[in-house]
Amino acid sequence: MSAFDDNCIFCKIIKGDIPSTKVYEDDLCYAFRDINPQAPTHILVVPKTHISSCNDVNESNEAVVGHIYSAIARIAEQEGISKTGYRIITNCGKDAGQTVFHLHFHILAGKPMGEGMLP
Ligand code: 5GP
Ligand code: ZN
Repeated sequence: MSAFDDNCIFCKIIKGDIPSTKVYEDDLCYAFRDINPQAPTHILVVPKTHISSCNDVNESNEAVVGHIYSAIARIAEQEGISKTGYRIITNCGKDAGQTVFHLHFHILAGKPMGEGMLP
């Protein structure tokens, strides 16, 4: 059984079927620049296996979430934003504004983002 979903745009990006600007990659996750950046630095980090949203994180796949957070720390170092700071956002479902149903973590940085919930 494939870990990919044939209809998922981020699965296609991971496979290289849709081009993306790679920022970081390892066995479990892939990071690339958002096509419509909301901050000077806007990176998406995705697990290499298809997980639709936070609702589908469970005991069988939870390790990848911790792994992604350690990858994010490495990416922040690489991007030179670890000291200035960054915001990590994951939208889950319709009311949060999730538009791509493959779990992803937005890394936003490069400008002050205030104290609100959104960039
Ligand atoms: P969501 O709204 O689901 O939290 O975030 C989806 C993000 O994926 C959006 O910020 C959107 O700009 C980005 N996105 C959608 N399609 C593509 C694509 O084909 N390539 C890249 N690099 N980003 C995409
Ligand atoms: Zn997918």
